[in-house]
Amino acid sequence: MSHPTLPYAQEREVALRCTIAAAHFCETVRQSQASNAFSKPDHSPVTIADYGAQALICRTLQAAFPADPVMGEEDAQLLASPPMADCLQRVTRYLQPYVQPYVQPPLTPGQDIAGSPTPIDSGAAPSVPTLANLNWQVNLAELLEVKTEPSPDSQPGHPQRATALDPQQVLAWISHGRSGLGDRFWTLDPIDGTKGYVRGDQYAVALALIEGGQLQVAAIVAPALPVNLPGSEGDRGVAFVAVRGQGAQAIALKSGQSWTLRVNPPEQQANFRLIESVERDHGTPAWQQAVAAAIGLQVPSLQMDSLAKYGAIARGEADLYLRLPSGNSTLRWENIWDHGAGVLVLEEAGGRVTDQTGKPLDFSQGTKLLNNKGIVASNGTLHEAAIAAIRAQGIE
Ligand code: AMP
Ligand code: MG
Repeated sequence: MSHPTLPYAQEREVALRCTIAAAHFCETVRQSQASNAFSKPDHSPVTIADYGAQALICRTLQAAFPADPVMGEEDAQLLASPPMADCLQRVTRYLQPYVQPYVQPPLTPGQDIAGSPTPIDSGAAPSVPTLANLNWQVNLAELLEVKTEPSPDSQPGHPQRATALDPQQVLAWISHGRSGLGDRFWTLDPIDGTKGYVRGDQYAVALALIEGGQLQVAAIVAPALPVNLPGSEGDRGVAFVAVRGQGAQAIALKSGQSWTLRVNPPEQQANFRLIESVERDHGTPAWQQAVAAAIGLQVPSLQMDSLAKYGAIARGEADLYLRLPSGNSTLRWENIWDHGAGVLVLEEAGGRVTDQTGKPLDFSQGTKLLNNKGIVASNGTLHEAAIAAIRAQGIE
């Protein structure tokens, strides 16, 4: 936990809280086999969990920082459209127990909300899905708490009766804060790596605060990522959190253990390795491998979905992430929410991130990285060599 008097202490705390709660929701949906995807107009996949996670995070941000715009990936208009009616119903049903934590007795750390049956009014409320028992050392009721006015019929000392969540409320949360970006705003990817999520692989809930074009706060939660600490074999679920100038930390969600993130030092050069997307058409694997070979990386590369790749470098599991767009297709600008949180976590762990020409990423251009092409993220030590190798190979 950061010190309350440090700059951005509240933002860090809130960002971590709501991304962990949203990640819990995503795992609940995935474990109940409800992670099948709907197709968006651009043919990219979206699931109940993408919408539900965005709703939960926006609900918390709205309560904590009402003036802050939120640029989330998902669009409520699409979810409100007739072909998505079934999806909206299911998002609402899965969210119900997550937005009415006051019907639960207080949770002790480590207890899961599956442990206490929810007294939903029979008939009035939709059925509650079985909640994942993740055994994370988090107090979900606390994570989900938002400071709102009590309803007029609530009595002190008595839990409120649950009422059915209104799908219109879900839509309102999802579209909260989309009024324009301003100087200070949050950028949110409720599930980065939806393809990995559906496949049963890695994905991440990612949230970053941008002020004056600068990343200031970042939280990434990767629920399926192995913890990789001695004594935690088999444990999965890691949160990465960073504030500019204050370093980056990781938290193992099951044990609650936290540690400072640091990239691999130059002395470990012989073991440096490349990390790339699982989805081959999200980069150009042949070029990425050629660059890695040119700078002498010999350890076989890792493939991982989502911006958990930045966390992997920050914790020394990999050293160079290349995302080189193919020269054949029209350039696809990268989305700020696909990189922002990862960039700050890695920079605060001692790494470096630029585009493929060596230019810093410019987060002041709206929702896309319009001034950048490709991504090069590294432990810092091999950054210049990677940029030089890209240039020498004639990659444009
Ligand atoms: P990753 O798992 O690192 O490949 O990242 C997933 C992200 O890739 C998604 O959030 C998409 O926004 C993004 N994406 C989708 N299609 C492409 C593409 N053709 N090239 C690059 N990125 C893409
Ligand atoms: Mg994404």
